[in-house]
Amino acid sequence: MHNDKEIHILGAGLAGSEAAWQIARSGLACVLHEMRPNRQTKAHKTGDCAELVCSNSLKSDSPNTASWLLKVELRRMGSLALRAAEQTRVPGGHALTVDRELFSKAITAALEAEPLVEIRREEVREVPANGIVVVATGPLTSGTLAADIARRTGSERLYFYDSISPIVDASTIDHSKVFAASRYGKSLDGGEDYLNCPMTKPEYETFLDALLAAESADAHIEDDMAIRAGKVPFFEACLPVEEIARRGRDTLRFGPMKPVGLDDPRTGRWAYAIVQLRQETQRADSYNLVGFQNHMKFGEQQRVLRLIPGLENAEFLRFGQMHRNTYINAPELLTAELQLKADERVFFAGQISGVEGYVESIATGLLAGRFAAAYARGERLADLPRETACGSLIHYLTHADPKRYQPANIAFDLLPQLEPELKRKLRHDRKARHVEVCRRAVAAMDEYLGAHAAAV
Ligand SMILES: Cc1cc2nc3c(=O)[nH]c(=O)nc-3n(C[C@H](O)[C@H](O)[C@H](O)COP(=O)(O)OP(=O)(O)OC[C@H]3O[C@@H](n4cnc5c(N)ncnc54)[C@H](O)[C@@H]3O)c2cc1C
Repeated sequence: MHNDKEIHILGAGLAGSEAAWQIARSGLACVLHEMRPNRQTKAHKTGDCAELVCSNSLKSDSPNTASWLLKVELRRMGSLALRAAEQTRVPGGHALTVDRELFSKAITAALEAEPLVEIRREEVREVPANGIVVVATGPLTSGTLAADIARRTGSERLYFYDSISPIVDASTIDHSKVFAASRYGKSLDGGEDYLNCPMTKPEYETFLDALLAAESADAHIEDDMAIRAGKVPFFEACLPVEEIARRGRDTLRFGPMKPVGLDDPRTGRWAYAIVQLRQETQRADSYNLVGFQNHMKFGEQQRVLRLIPGLENAEFLRFGQMHRNTYINAPELLTAELQLKADERVFFAGQISGVEGYVESIATGLLAGRFAAAYARGERLADLPRETACGSLIHYLTHADPKRYQPANIAFDLLPQLEPELKRKLRHDRKARHVEVCRRAVAAMDEYLGAHAAAV
């Protein structure tokens, strides 16, 4: 006989790991199914839970930014991932940047030590027919399960394409050509968190020409319909560097290669263009090229990126790549508890639920875990206040226009506007408006958690 209250979480990524932790915290048992290391995705490298597949940054931790607000709320709700991030933090300016290996090892160890979580290393090929299910298999959900989800949701799977940045071995950087600095000297601890590779105008022009002429990698997603149809819809917030370069000869200088706020100590001035390198590990033995996600052939990447001053002899530990992203049409399919409208025992979390980004995936994992636990107890949690970042993410997922749906990162425009009078008073001060929005959100979250402490 099956147990219709048994909770199954599919995928031990950022969302699934957080969901399992929250369910266990509420006193219920769950099974966490993960196909790695038996079956890898195109982006994961280990068998660890909550592996970060690209950047090691959980975005801004600068007070009164939208990403900071989301993290504040998650910390207040006891997020395992945010706790692990604090423990494994590396310098990253205003961002919460972690040692990716230690981060996922800390989460794996916590889940393995939790008696209420059973981790099963197996690929799930279809949504279990019984029990309560949290689908958190991410943007690279394996094919058979993705086909089953498409069949169950009755919608076509939707794809767009992201790309990942290369990583260089720190010992192969020519330190006589690069300098350490944070933009406008802004660093959480007053340090100089980035290595900067300054370029003169001729160096930039040579680099740009090489980039524009470089050969693209074959799409490893050739089975996909969009590629076959010659339509490759990129995600605007994560464009490949060569795609940005195609938009104009100066576009990179105003984007990932902008030199502003970075005084070159040798000239005392800003360079013509800059490539920033961000520390990857606590040992500082590798750096990623910030914003240099790309889709060039690996040999071409090496040739072109070695034109960057300081990287002439760089050894690349990982090259940039393009990948698939799978997500459902949330506003059409999900309730405000992240359940399928058509089958309320099935919850969605993480990137596949229609959000974008590490922290947003953690957030929906945390919430889906809590919603699923309440559902198992035959209860329903009170709605999250709309003023909070978490409440606003859920609101976006369930209220965006389904016809033009695109996954979103948390941003102030997802949060409700201030009261008209306050908004008018602060109309010339954007920063003060953000402070107010954050203050209101944190107060609403504290009130919610205070009022519903017993239920969550
Ligand atoms: C290549 C790439 C780069 C990205 N870069 C960034 C970035 O730099 N910054 C950022 O904020 N966001 C980035 N994202 C977007 C997103 O934040 C991450 O994908 C994030 O990991 C999503 O979390 P998740 O829990 O939804 O999925 P994941 O963390 O991918 O977890 C899903 C898990 O499910 C497992 N799984 C899949 N199918 C099955 C199955 N059938 N059975 C069992 N297990 C299964 C996978 O092995 C994986 O462990 C990137 C995405 C990709 C793909």
